[in-house]
Amino acid sequence: MLSVEEALQKILDEVQTLEEETVPILESLGQVLAEDIKSDINVPPLDNSAMDGYAVISRDTAGAGEKTPVSLRVIDTVMAGSISRKEVVPGTAVRIMTGAPVPKGADSVVQFENTDDAKRKESARQEPITRVSILSEASPGLNIRRAGEDIARGALALKKGTVIRPAEIGLMASLGYSKVKVIRRPVVAIISTGNELVEVDKPLPEGKIHDSNGYSIASLARRYGFIPRMLGIARDDEESLLSKLKQAQDADMLLTTGGVSMGDYDIVKDILDRDGEMVFWKVRVKPGKPLAFGKIKGKNKSIPHLGLPGNAVSCMVSFELFVRPALMKMMGKKNFAKPAVEAIMEDTVKNNAGRRLYDRAVIERRNGHYYAKLTGSQSSGILTSMSLANGLVIISEDRKIVNKGETVQALMLDWNEEVNI
Ligand code: AMP
Ligand code: MG
Repeated sequence: MLSVEEALQKILDEVQTLEEETVPILESLGQVLAEDIKSDINVPPLDNSAMDGYAVISRDTAGAGEKTPVSLRVIDTVMAGSISRKEVVPGTAVRIMTGAPVPKGADSVVQFENTDDAKRKESARQEPITRVSILSEASPGLNIRRAGEDIARGALALKKGTVIRPAEIGLMASLGYSKVKVIRRPVVAIISTGNELVEVDKPLPEGKIHDSNGYSIASLARRYGFIPRMLGIARDDEESLLSKLKQAQDADMLLTTGGVSMGDYDIVKDILDRDGEMVFWKVRVKPGKPLAFGKIKGKNKSIPHLGLPGNAVSCMVSFELFVRPALMKMMGKKNFAKPAVEAIMEDTVKNNAGRRLYDRAVIERRNGHYYAKLTGSQSSGILTSMSLANGLVIISEDRKIVNKGETVQALMLDWNEEVNI
């Protein structure tokens, strides 16, 4: 049986980065840049004020202090978005708001707090300001943001391969990009298999259960920025499964759940074996052992197919460990790992399976350490203990027991604010 790393490597070896597409910048969140973003402009475009204050000639303020104010004549007021046509000459100042271009002649800005502006405003708010007292010395360049200080014209602002986050979207907007070239998102076809399955909006006949895997897997796909295409339920017979598979032919990846165990009706792996190409079946992991991976024939290409185990938690853990990295590679990403922390176990865990355990736990930080507490039954169909968990503690395949108080690696599925702990 393959280890987690071996299985993941086999999957990654079989998937390729997808093509480029051009999308509106807001849509590109989480995608990977397929072009260098260069700047045609200076950001900011002009020298401008970092403060509300007075644009002055720094030499004029020599010796200025609370007790030795320097009085200057106010010749104009300039707001952000406007340009003052006046030139600051010795003995004068321009009242200036944050972001407004610094007028000609001025080389520094004295903020309101270091002038008599604030005091005077209270007494004579309506009267036009004709003079200002400067109460501190200004050095050349004080409170001035230089043109091109953020991004200079012609500079490389974002490198091809960058993962786009809100800051990058803001940056592109500031450069005047409305669209951007990125690696497209993979379309993931999802089929739930099982005669026992019933749609969520249908009543449950005796012996049946609702299809929950379709939803948990589609929402995982959506969470990580892939495009889920739910194809519904296939019965455990060839005809039903083959007709669903036809609808998956133009997807970038096929995910099925169920039908990969040892039972009489576990036909997913048989069909994969017969009509497609089976790369491996079974991984030394718990939950999630009966994972099948191969390729099926698509319209003009072969489609990677992960046959996820049917149990509700197994398929989710398999998604996190194997599907997510593969789809991230398709999206052009380089770092596939979720964050992991060292956590001190608050329970004792036995491992008789000889497989690597990924046990559901709440991982909390207290007094500078992370602590991990199991969230209840680790049976692979128990979704409630998955719902209570924010991470998975990893118990290596060669450990028979990990005692309370020992330190383990914990894979963080969510950070605390997203979990009800
Ligand atoms: P299988 O691998 O098909 O034998 O399924 C293993 C277990 O997972 C069985 O108890 C199934 O009833 C359950 N199961 C399979 N598919 C789903 C699904 N889509 N939603 C919820 N449970 C499922
Ligand atoms: Mg089944």
